[in-house]
Amino acid sequence: MKKDLLETLKEKGALLGGHFLLSSGLHSPDYVQCALALKDTALARELGKDLASLWKGEKPDAVLSPAMGGLIIGHETAAALGVDFLFAERQEGRLTLRRGFSLPAGSRVVIVEDVFTTGKSTMETEELARGLGIKVLGALSMIDRTAKPAFPFPSASLLRLALTVYEPAVCPLCAGGAPLVKPGSRTAR
Ligand SMILES: [Zn+2]
Repeated sequence: MKKDLLETLKEKGALLGGHFLLSSGLHSPDYVQCALALKDTALARELGKDLASLWKGEKPDAVLSPAMGGLIIGHETAAALGVDFLFAERQEGRLTLRRGFSLPAGSRVVIVEDVFTTGKSTMETEELARGLGIKVLGALSMIDRTAKPAFPFPSASLLRLALTVYEPAVCPLCAGGAPLVKPGSRTAR
C-alpha cells in the first residue's frame, strides 16, 4: 500500500493507549482497534488487496474468519482473492459455523483475522475447520502482536507490532489501580 500501515493506524486513531483486557485474557497498555481503520471502506478494500497479495500459497476455496474482528478484513481479502467468504461465530463460547454456512469436506481455506494476539482464535478456527474436514492452508492478519507466530501452517501479516502484554496476576496497570477497559468483542471467559 502507499502509506505505512502503522502511520495509517495512528492517523485513524486506531492505536489506543490505556489499560485493556485483550480477547486473549491478557492485559495491555496498548490496543489496536482495527475497526477504526476499516470503517474507511476504500482503505479496507486496499488492505484486503495488500493482505491477499501476501498469500503465496495455493488458491483457497474460501476465506474463513472468526467474528467479529475478522469480518471486514476477511471479506475484503476474500474479494481480492476472488473466493467466497465465510465467518465463524461463538455460540456458548465455541466457534461454530452458523447461518447455513457450509463447505464440502476436503475444501481448503485461508483464515483471515484483524490481529493475531496469542493465536488462540486462529487455532480455534483451525480446530473448527478440521472437525468439518476442511483443510486450513494458512492464516493472514493485518497485525501480528504475537511474540513469535507459531502456527502449524504458513502465516503472514501486514504489520508486526510487538506491543506489551501482561498476565493479569502480574499486570502493573492493575497494581496501579487503573480501570480495565474491554474494547474487543469476545466476552471474557
Ligand atoms: Zn491489568
